[in-house]
Amino acid sequence: MRVANERIFLSPPHMSGREQLYINEAFVTNWIAPLGPNVDAFEREIAEYTGAGGAVALSSGTAAIHIALCLLGVGPGDRVFCSSFTFVASANPVCYAGAEPVFIDSEPQTWNMSPEALERALEEADREGCLPKAVIVVHLYGQSAKMKEIMSLCGRYDVPIIEDAAESLGSTYEGKASGTLGKFGIYSFNGNKIITTSGGGMLVSDDEEALAKARFLATQARDQAPHYQHSVMGYNYRLSNLLAGVGRAQLQVLDERVEARRAVFENYREAFGGLKGVEFMPELPGTRSNRWLTTLTIDEEENGVKISDLLKALADDNIEARPLWKPLHLQPIFERARFYPHSETLCVSEQLFRSGICLPSGSSMTLEQQQRVIDCIQRSLGKVANPAR
Ligand SMILES: *Cc1c(COP(=O)(O)O)cnc(C)c1O
Repeated sequence: MRVANERIFLSPPHMSGREQLYINEAFVTNWIAPLGPNVDAFEREIAEYTGAGGAVALSSGTAAIHIALCLLGVGPGDRVFCSSFTFVASANPVCYAGAEPVFIDSEPQTWNMSPEALERALEEADREGCLPKAVIVVHLYGQSAKMKEIMSLCGRYDVPIIEDAAESLGSTYEGKASGTLGKFGIYSFNGNKIITTSGGGMLVSDDEEALAKARFLATQARDQAPHYQHSVMGYNYRLSNLLAGVGRAQLQVLDERVEARRAVFENYREAFGGLKGVEFMPELPGTRSNRWLTTLTIDEEENGVKISDLLKALADDNIEARPLWKPLHLQPIFERARFYPHSETLCVSEQLFRSGICLPSGSSMTLEQQQRVIDCIQRSLGKVANPAR
């Protein structure tokens, strides 16, 4: 029975019903061990879907970033540039590798890495003779960063790009799949992402040799010998054949999931996009976002309502909403890290963190659930239309 006030989650898993078929097949054929036909097929299917040269299925998106850093030879004494406005998993692997993360601010049009801040950071690093070994560019909430500008800057200094596309599977940048423009791209299939294997990740690249080495490193780096022999340190990072089966079924409905999330976004925008001081995350021309989460900022002065009060009103209605990601340069764990703001006078990620929220955006949300969120927000923010629109 449906309860009127049942909890509305931010981004719950949404199964298609076909996942069970793949799991059953794995049981019938006893492919329970890690690796197996579902893993091989899932890798092929992700490469086909995204247009990447190849793909390696791993146990998480975090593991995929770690392996990408290993492939680029990142180690102690190295620096890696990373978006500041992101989830901590974007930068933790830099620390696993013993390197130093340097954080780059966002810019207003994509909320992602600021090419202006990146340019200053690269110039300074070049002067100090300490260019980064890699730049990790995050495509937050499904929106692609300004890749043309970022690739041109990184090209100038010959620094490879790792795209953290954990949140942007199904999004495009100038017609290309998000995650396929840099040297490496990574996706996540964690439970809250647009498609899920309950836990899992994928590394993509056009460099087949690097991907072969990724498979080697992610399976304990076993040398070719009948006995167990190891010349380098490896990891146990491969995806299980059972979970890859779930991923195959999920990938078949990815396009539907993108459409559903974009429809949730449109519904919210029509309902309260005109309210005073409300701004949704923009979509850069030439890009298409999967709108993984609908996110918006509220200008407290213009609207008169505090973000904390809005979050409380939603929580009181049993609706899960969250502030935007807390920038990594503000995290206690990274308090000594270098940080490059968008400009001398403007720190975009801090402003977003102070004024933004994420709304429930799951692809399985019913219209009634969306209406409950809309009602709560309209009650809280007032119905005064923005005269500027
Ligand atoms: C989810 C996420 C990750 C990590 O993926 P896992 O599969 O959970 O390890 C990395 N970066 C971003 C931006 C994410 O949202």
